[in-house]
Amino acid sequence: MKKTEKKREHQADVPFWENTPLSRMTRKQWESLCDGCGLCCMEKLEDADTGVIYVTSVACRYLDLESCRCRIYENRTYINDVCVELMPGSVEHYHWLPETCAYRRILAGKPLPSWHPLICGSAKQMKKAGATASDRAISGESIHPDDLYRFIDYEVPSK
Ligand code: SF4
Ligand code: SF4
Repeated sequence: MKKTEKKREHQADVPFWENTPLSRMTRKQWESLCDGCGLCCMEKLEDADTGVIYVTSVACRYLDLESCRCRIYENRTYINDVCVELMPGSVEHYHWLPETCAYRRILAGKPLPSWHPLICGSAKQMKKAGATASDRAISGESIHPDDLYRFIDYEVPSK
C-alpha cells in the first residue's frame, strides 16, 4: 500500500472532532458536538467591578429540566436577551462554559468526556455520570431574579 493511501485510511479512522477545527466543521458536525447537557443554561450573575461570574444552580426559565431542551430554541436570542448563540468564532469569549462542554474542550485541544454521546452512541452514560442540568439544577420559573444570589454554585474568575 502506498504511503498516501495509508495516510488517507488512517485519517478516515479518526473521528471528525479530533482532526477538524471548530471553524471547519459542517453544520451537522457542529450540532452533534453539543451533548445537550443544558449546563450552559444555568443562570449567572456577574460582578461588574471584578468581572467574576457566579454560576448558580438555577436553570434558565426556558429550559425544560426533564429533557434538558430549550423550550424556545428557534427564537431564544430574541426572547431571552442574555441567551447566547455559540458560534465557532465565539466559543473563546464564553469562559464560563462548563469544563465538560464539548466546544470548550475541542477549542482547548482536550478530548471529549468519555461519556459523550458521540463516543457512547447515546446519552445513557452521560446521565449515569450526572453530567446534565437535570441532575443538579432547579427550575428558574419559581425563582425571582433578585434571589439568584442565594443559589450561587461556583465562581468563574474573570479572564
Ligand atoms: S454546555 Fe456545551 S455541550 Fe452542554 S448544552 Fe451547552 S453548548 Fe451543549
Ligand atoms: S433561552 Fe434556551 S438556550 Fe437560552 S439559556 Fe435559556 S434555555 Fe438555554
